[in-house]
Amino acid sequence: MAEATQTHPCADVEDVPELSDGDSVSDDDKEQWQWMEEDTQQVTCLFCDRLLNSVPDTLQHCTAEHQVNLIDVIKKHNLDDYSYIKLINFIRSTKCEPSHLMGLPDGPLPWESEDFLRPVIQDDPLLQTDPEDLCGRQGTVASTCRPLEAESNHALLLRATSAEDALARSLEDLQKLKLLVQGLVLNAETGRAANLSSVAELRDDEDEAYFSSYGHYGIHEEMLKDKVRTESYRDFIYSNPEVFRDKVVLDVGCGTCILSMFAAKAGAKQVIAVDQSEIIYQAMDIVRSNKLEDKITLLKGRIEDISLPVEKVDVIISEWMGYFLLFESMLDSVLVARDLYLDDGGSVYPDLCNISLAAVGDEQKHQECIAFWDDVYGFNMSCMRKVVVPEAAVQVLNADTLISEPAVIQTIDCNKVCLSELEFASDFCLKMTKTTDCTALVGYFDVFFDKGCCNKVMFSTGPQVTKTHWKQTVFQLERPFAVQAGEELRGKITLRKNKKDPRSLLVTFELRDRKITYNVQ
Ligand code: SAH
Repeated sequence: MAEATQTHPCADVEDVPELSDGDSVSDDDKEQWQWMEEDTQQVTCLFCDRLLNSVPDTLQHCTAEHQVNLIDVIKKHNLDDYSYIKLINFIRSTKCEPSHLMGLPDGPLPWESEDFLRPVIQDDPLLQTDPEDLCGRQGTVASTCRPLEAESNHALLLRATSAEDALARSLEDLQKLKLLVQGLVLNAETGRAANLSSVAELRDDEDEAYFSSYGHYGIHEEMLKDKVRTESYRDFIYSNPEVFRDKVVLDVGCGTCILSMFAAKAGAKQVIAVDQSEIIYQAMDIVRSNKLEDKITLLKGRIEDISLPVEKVDVIISEWMGYFLLFESMLDSVLVARDLYLDDGGSVYPDLCNISLAAVGDEQKHQECIAFWDDVYGFNMSCMRKVVVPEAAVQVLNADTLISEPAVIQTIDCNKVCLSELEFASDFCLKMTKTTDCTALVGYFDVFFDKGCCNKVMFSTGPQVTKTHWKQTVFQLERPFAVQAGEELRGKITLRKNKKDPRSLLVTFELRDRKITYNVQ
């Protein structure tokens, strides 16, 4: 209370009595301060930047200027104190359009997430107003200010939520501190890394950079413009309407909501679209602009952390694939969603994925990337090889440089696979098609929409077909070796998550008595 008084913009600094601590203020004083504060505090409109002199003025302004009668909204959805607070924060944080608010159908409300308990504006007078008073159940709008001793349930709730908020912030700080200490210990004891193996175990602060990269529109533009990717999803959804008609669909990592909108158009009864990144605020506008708000429910949060408004879903769609398929480890999150929410008989799409390898003979590329370091302006920098070689490169490979038939090293069935199977070892055999030097191996993946589909759809990210934004993953060999056409090159690949960064991969090849580990990051 004292804090709010001291920072009040209308307070005349010279008139403010010195407060040593809260205890020295009498109850009478407290009451007087509270009344003064509420009498003078201005209210920012919910839909524009106007500052109004009181809560009733704000309500009138919202009705006259934005055609939103807040009291009607409260009554229509029968909002209790909790839901009312969430509603106010929802409108402020999502910059929700007035028309959207008035046109909401019955059913799950878009402000159900606990995230909306967090105040968007500090000391928001609208939050300090009791919805019961607004609706005239216990009094009139004018009675929104009350002395402390007559504190309402609403005020208690408000105090509880802001205390919770403060507690959450302290816990966050503690977590950060813990992380810092962990980091120090890890640096001191090299080789002992945290034992994380799933992104589901990551905390928000650890994953912040990942989700903030998806907050920018650029990455979504790139994905949407990847026609091979987006049209495959579209063709699968539109050409198999029986999979979607009257079904409840969960879109894990909805981004701009493109997949959710395809599903809604294909006849889904309800689509629940979840994303933790800030792009979801754009997705809310996109869904409204396409008049699909009655079909698509958007939720901001990590799929691992939020609770859905339904118990089970019939279909899960997601575009989770990363470089070399498993980079990013987003499949972990889809599996969490599958195990929590997919109904018996339901399906995850895409359902099948293959990871393939082939041998590459590209002297020129090897020269440019690896041998380059042996003589740089007359200086020997070949020690750089040991840092350059282990970094797998994401690049588009010229199909003419392939010197073997491809071999599938792993098939993943998203409806059956379990988390531990996303780390694996596999023997492979590459049948050589040319007599030349093998300079690298290339990895890529194929994706299938197959289960129960009348019209099956697939796409490949291999070098022989139209390129995608995943390109290919190239593993340069430090020393090329000779191969003969018809020869079978046998080897072993091991793929595991990097324990220090579970979103990146460590890929080890055992080939011709050599063993080398690459980073895919
Ligand atoms: N479905 C969209 C976006 C795909 S990109 C499209 O096809 O265009 C993947 C999206 O998943 C990103 O927006 C990312 O923020 C989101 N995402 C990744 N892991 C998530 C998780 N665990 N919970 C919620 N969203 C997640």
